Amino acid sequence: AEQTYDVVVIGAGGAGFSAAIEANQAGAQVVLLEKMPTVGGNTLISGGEMNAPNNWVQQKLGITDDSADLYYEDTLKGGDHLGTPEMVRILADHALESAEWLRDEIKVEFLPDHLFQFGGHSRKRALIPVGHTGAELITKLKTKTEEQGVTIKTSMKADALITNDEGRVTGVEATDGSGNKIIFHAQMGVIVATGGFGSNIEMRKKYNPEMDEKYMSTDTPGTTGDGIVMAEALGAKLANMEYIQTYPVCNPETGVISLVADSRFDGAILINQEGERFVEELERRDVISKAILAQTGGYTYQLWNQTIADIGKTIEAHQDEYDMLVKQGLLYKADTLEEAAKFFNVDIDTLKATVKKVNRYASTGDDLDFHHRGGLVSLETGPYYIQKAVPSVHHTMGGLVIDGKTHVINDEGNVIPGLYAAGEVTGVIHGTNRLGGNAIADIFTFGRIAGQQVVAEN
Ligand code: ADP
Repeated sequence: AEQTYDVVVIGAGGAGFSAAIEANQAGAQVVLLEKMPTVGGNTLISGGEMNAPNNWVQQKLGITDDSADLYYEDTLKGGDHLGTPEMVRILADHALESAEWLRDEIKVEFLPDHLFQFGGHSRKRALIPVGHTGAELITKLKTKTEEQGVTIKTSMKADALITNDEGRVTGVEATDGSGNKIIFHAQMGVIVATGGFGSNIEMRKKYNPEMDEKYMSTDTPGTTGDGIVMAEALGAKLANMEYIQTYPVCNPETGVISLVADSRFDGAILINQEGERFVEELERRDVISKAILAQTGGYTYQLWNQTIADIGKTIEAHQDEYDMLVKQGLLYKADTLEEAAKFFNVDIDTLKATVKKVNRYASTGDDLDFHHRGGLVSLETGPYYIQKAVPSVHHTMGGLVIDGKTHVINDEGNVIPGLYAAGEVTGVIHGTNRLGGNAIADIFTFGRIAGQQVVAEN
């Protein structure tokens, strides 16, 4: 079977949805192909937080000293300057606009008075969608896409890109849920938004042998690098493929990211089996992950009290996850520190000494041990929460090389005509290490550009 559209978008995560909506608004007939039975990708299961310098919540909270320049610096530095500066510049200059687009056009609701300051960021600048997950984003994007008349095809896996004699990408070969081959012709162009390759262990090992079976992954099973492989077959250039990020605090049984553990951003501390802190809790994900793996057993316990729980309300926001963790014996609520320590056999005297220091540093505002950048919170009063966690593969920084207009670039440095890419499938923004809240900012900024660009060039 064959079908013809103006634009074919591959992958229905945040990048694909925003590209499809923009291309459609610019007048194109758009089809969005998703290989899984449901849409959303990793965007759906993420925390959904999005960095935007100078955002409206910062203004409300009296944070007046943020800027696109600072955000640019933080992002480049966070990736050890391996992100492409011109691309990071575009992200920094457009992140706020992307957030406003989500708020005003897509009707995404963000919390009006709470922000996260993820590791590596010098300001509190991450907007939080209601519900604290990407579900708010994907639900609203899906509604908008359907209202606009974009065709969404789920259980439709793109297998290969089709080119004409001049090497221009003119369509996609796909397979539907029943194994039928379908050709989608794209009169204007194809946008690849297939996400990363965190769930593809063979591909992880190919680019970084360290990232083998010993790591589980936080990613959805669809995250297998298909877009990278399809574009590579046309000579696309890849960058930063060896940089694979682990998320420090995930479920030790399943590898699933812990969003309850977002209490870390409100002051929860990390301790080892011996009861000692060993890293600054707002350090970069790679640094924290490595530090955790170096501890006894290769795991950590996250500890917080009710004061901290009441700040971000991560338990209420993620009640299902909380109940599950309790049932699995991975999270315990205790009235006293003694009880918390006993549940996981942590050395109580060491833990008490650790907490005593934390309380002192909280009152002086000066963490003499690890220089906690958000300022520690006193753990004087209970009840307490203690949660066991391990690092798990979360984000692949590498991928396709794109230019500022999201054209896919080949090994000779030339644009592959008719081919665009956005989101985690690309590899030029985050360098060695993606900072928290930067994936969402990236996918919506470049997803929108891709959708606008493909139509503008036709
Ligand atoms: P991003 O954050 O870049 O938008 P996501 O992981 O949120 O990435 O979304 C990528 C989507 O692409 C996922 O829903 C995934 O299932 C889908 N996908 C991956 N490979 C293919 C493919 N070959 N054909 C169709 N969809 C794909």
